[in-house]
Amino acid sequence: MGDYVNVKELFGCDVFNDSVMQERLPKKVYKELKKTIEEGKELSMEVADVVAHEMKEWAIEKGATHYSHWFQPLTGVTAEKHDAFITAPMENGKVLQSFSGKELIKGEPDASSFPSGGLRATFEARGYTTWDCTSPAFVRHDAAGGTLCIPTAFCSYTGEALDQKTPLLRSMEAINTQALRLLRLFGNTTSRRVTPSVGAEQEYFLVDKEKYMQRKDLVYTGRTLFGAMPPKGQEMDDHYFGTIRQRVSAYMKEVNEECWKLGVTAKTQHNEVAPAQHELAPIYAPVNIAADHNQIMMRILKKVASRHGMRCLLHEKPFAGLNGSGKHNNWSLTTDDGINLLEPGKTPHENIQFLLVLTCILKAVDKHADLLRESAADVGNDQRLGGHEAPPAVISVFLGEQLEDVLEQLISTGTATRSKTGEKLATGVKTLPDFMKDATDRNRTSPFAFTGNKFEFRMVGSKDSISACNVVLNTITAEAFKEACDILEKAEDFDLAVHDLIKKYATEHQRIVFNGNGYAPEWEKEARRRGLPILPSMVDAIPALTTDKAVELFGEFGVFTKTELESRAEIQYEIYAKAINIEAKTMIDMATKQIIPAVIKYTTVLAESINQVKAVGPIDVSVQMDLLKKASKLLKEVNSAMNKLSKLVDQVEAHPEGRERAVFCREKLVPAMEKLRQPVDELEMLVDKEMWPMPSYGDLVFEP
Ligand code: ADP
Ligand code: MG
Repeated sequence: MGDYVNVKELFGCDVFNDSVMQERLPKKVYKELKKTIEEGKELSMEVADVVAHEMKEWAIEKGATHYSHWFQPLTGVTAEKHDAFITAPMENGKVLQSFSGKELIKGEPDASSFPSGGLRATFEARGYTTWDCTSPAFVRHDAAGGTLCIPTAFCSYTGEALDQKTPLLRSMEAINTQALRLLRLFGNTTSRRVTPSVGAEQEYFLVDKEKYMQRKDLVYTGRTLFGAMPPKGQEMDDHYFGTIRQRVSAYMKEVNEECWKLGVTAKTQHNEVAPAQHELAPIYAPVNIAADHNQIMMRILKKVASRHGMRCLLHEKPFAGLNGSGKHNNWSLTTDDGINLLEPGKTPHENIQFLLVLTCILKAVDKHADLLRESAADVGNDQRLGGHEAPPAVISVFLGEQLEDVLEQLISTGTATRSKTGEKLATGVKTLPDFMKDATDRNRTSPFAFTGNKFEFRMVGSKDSISACNVVLNTITAEAFKEACDILEKAEDFDLAVHDLIKKYATEHQRIVFNGNGYAPEWEKEARRRGLPILPSMVDAIPALTTDKAVELFGEFGVFTKTELESRAEIQYEIYAKAINIEAKTMIDMATKQIIPAVIKYTTVLAESINQVKAVGPIDVSVQMDLLKKASKLLKEVNSAMNKLSKLVDQVEAHPEGRERAVFCREKLVPAMEKLRQPVDELEMLVDKEMWPMPSYGDLVFEP
């Protein structure tokens, strides 16, 4: 039974969680800490010292030698700096291991090389990490040994957020305050906290490591920049939910175990639509924990892949022509006493509180569609959104038959008197149970879909942090709740007022509801007619961050200052330009050093063989000639496209950093890259496979 896994024992065994704290901390200290975690009370240094000491003792027992303030700067990945627990040797030459409250609470990484969008001049490189005690510390084991990782927020010397976590925590405060106000209006006096709950489904690809290493595009950019479609793609749909190959099963088993050890509730795994594509979803958790756990999960997915001779691709679009990867963000609002504000119940038309919550969210999404779109903007996602496999770059809301019908009743007659119910689904087989169908079918094409008791935001890229979209969801909903509460708290006749408000919101924001096929080309036309923002590229989306509307929204709820928003926009532009520039340079490198030489070799061999055949006698060499002509023509195209791209790359630096450079990359580099790719992909179909200098799509996705 060497392989027997006791999940109960394994789960959370490397986490300094509530039960560990309860067991190890003196009662008084435990209580104080809980108050900080649950009510945001300030933590005294005495308490911090005790917690730090116990945390260290526990971590050392788990094999930790170092501690690290673990944070999420705006690079999109996590960052950490490791310090050993050891202190200066004592007189007898031995060392002690210590860890103080101060070291737990505050860290000061040299922050000058993290993006700050101008917030922190390099000479003023101070940045602080502060312990986020709402997300538990954990011991991570890897090649570096055991490290006590302490989740932290990262701010500048002047208190501006330099990370993903700080605004997320701020937005949680905002939604908590406003949602409690709303609940009180409906007579709820017992709930003490409202927290956004999030379950993030993570998609990824697995490819063989040896083959991966032979593709510079994958190594440098995370996606293939060249590559012709194999004879078989995903058209048979035979991979989706298909039997999981043994090599991948072994991988998933280890991923699950590593996740469980760190308290990450890895729950559902299956093959996805594209060959070599898979998905892993945890059980939903409070959003700040969900965001941390998603980062941990991505790291585990990568680390375990290496151990199995594979590479995990988290890029949004590793292969043109195959489905890309996303991260579905399932979002709901839950009270500390277990009420889900997005639960419609069996008869939503009678559930006034739900209808108010729902119409507030419609209003919020309609008003701030541009911000929600921006929150999912990342360089890789530009390749995926709107590709007829992922939501289009237009925000709309899918409500489903039942709720749409309730809203229509509200809008047309002023009251909703009935809810469509699910029918019985007869299986037609005696031994199979009949069951009640959901009142609403799924719509997989909508970017923001109501799925029973939660909204699923499907635009987020697979590589991206889920923080940004949840900051937006929390804050825009807080604003809508606030505006509703401002009116309703003053109303003389509450029932009448709330009824009118629901009707008003439903009517005014009906345009954001779309239940049709979001992949259909007609939808874009219709969206344009409705006046919904269409923002195809990241570069088009970034300006949403700094509109007056956004500054007002985030300022009102203390989530972002204007300066913070401007810095974030700046960073986004920089990230975009840098990433595209790297892609362009990688293409040039591959074309120059690998592709063009391979084609030259191929044409030379062809030409030589033509001569040799001709020498034998009057034999027809028209096929060889034809191939030679085609290949030579394409080679010329490659060369000229590459020269054009090179010239453009040389001009990048001449454009000032920020928006101007990003726009240049988007408008000039991206099309020039496509121009280079075309003839190369055609050549791949022509040239002798033995001579093609890198593994093909077929090699990568069908035999990992
Ligand atoms: P589906 O198949 O409908 O996409 P699943 O039940 O597989 O839904 O759940 C997808 C993700 O949504 C999981 O991470 C799950 O934990 C999460 N989830 C389920 N209910 C909620 C909820 N009320 N709030 C937030 N997330 C939820
Ligand atoms: Mg889903």
